[in-house]
Amino acid sequence: MKQVPLLAVENLTTVFDVKPRPVVAVNDVSFEIRKGETLGLVGESGSGKSVTAFSIIGLLQPPGRVAGGRVMFQGRDLARLPEPEMRKVRGAGIGFVFQEPMAALNPVMRVGAHIAEALVVHGLAAKAEARGRAIELLRAVKITDPEKRVDDYPHQLSGGMRQRVMMAVALACKPPLLIADEPTTALDVTVQAQVLDLLRDMKKQFDRSLLLITHDLGVIAETADRVAVMYAGRIVEQGTVREIFHHPKHPYTRGLLASIPGGAAGSRLQAIEGTVPNLSVLPPGCSFAPRCGDRMDVCATAFPPQTPAGGLDLSTVAPGAKVEHAVRCYLHGGQP
Ligand code: ADP
Ligand code: MG
Repeated sequence: MKQVPLLAVENLTTVFDVKPRPVVAVNDVSFEIRKGETLGLVGESGSGKSVTAFSIIGLLQPPGRVAGGRVMFQGRDLARLPEPEMRKVRGAGIGFVFQEPMAALNPVMRVGAHIAEALVVHGLAAKAEARGRAIELLRAVKITDPEKRVDDYPHQLSGGMRQRVMMAVALACKPPLLIADEPTTALDVTVQAQVLDLLRDMKKQFDRSLLLITHDLGVIAETADRVAVMYAGRIVEQGTVREIFHHPKHPYTRGLLASIPGGAAGSRLQAIEGTVPNLSVLPPGCSFAPRCGDRMDVCATAFPPQTPAGGLDLSTVAPGAKVEHAVRCYLHGGQP
């Protein structure tokens, strides 16, 4: 029997209805996350990563709207859940950590109150026990002096500490899935490493699944099991960390890898020239073609279909089987 993945994003398409033309920020995106697994979603700024996350948890603000596809969580179609059910999923089912914890924390609420609120709202602790649980959670995310910190206001903490508090809030209800959107981007390098360590710990300790969103492939190397590479709203390559790092196929993925400082042996810091295109006026073919050193005539015709990479024939793979590596690039097949 096929095991139902914890999260299945199927052909998700999210549009912003803005003038003069609608913007397709997320374009036919599909991926799965299984229990205990970490998927890294990587791409430059503006590629649609955060919009994907907000679409999954149903917190997209107008003029944004999900225009196609669906999000299945624990076998349930999230778009069909009534709002009260959806509120339960947010927090108790899917925890969320943002890039800028200051924006997510209430400046006039003490640290402990943030955690207590999450616990009480989801009926996991009475007010009286919530403080003790909050201290436990602060200790679990390795905040020193949790008995003291629990009474601090967010502005009294460093950026790294605030991010830990966010993690404590997100983990309070023991959600099986944690979505972390650029959790370390606003932090300096040492603190970044500590927060990533903590994420890895949390995942191992509680067998949690993680959707780790970042513009930095370096962050993904040691944290994720699989990687999905996003460009201009689409997933252009997807595979195990091993495959993506050792046998990258898409010229964009290769460019991202080459731009990791101190990355692959002999590589130098080499950014990809140009920027992510305006998503309201995408070229008719592959959206990466204008920046691609390997582009061919065919690249201007239509967006390339997904083809198996690494010698695996998708047509012979059993339904539901784990696909090791897939790419959308005419260099690797799919000629129209
Ligand atoms: P990332 O997280 O990968 O940096 P985002 O998901 O935040 O990128 O945004 C992807 C694209 O979606 C943006 O480049 C922009 O074109 C579009 N977008 C996001 N929010 C809005 C909005 N409120 N109105 C119009 N377009 C938006
Ligand atoms: Mg973002």
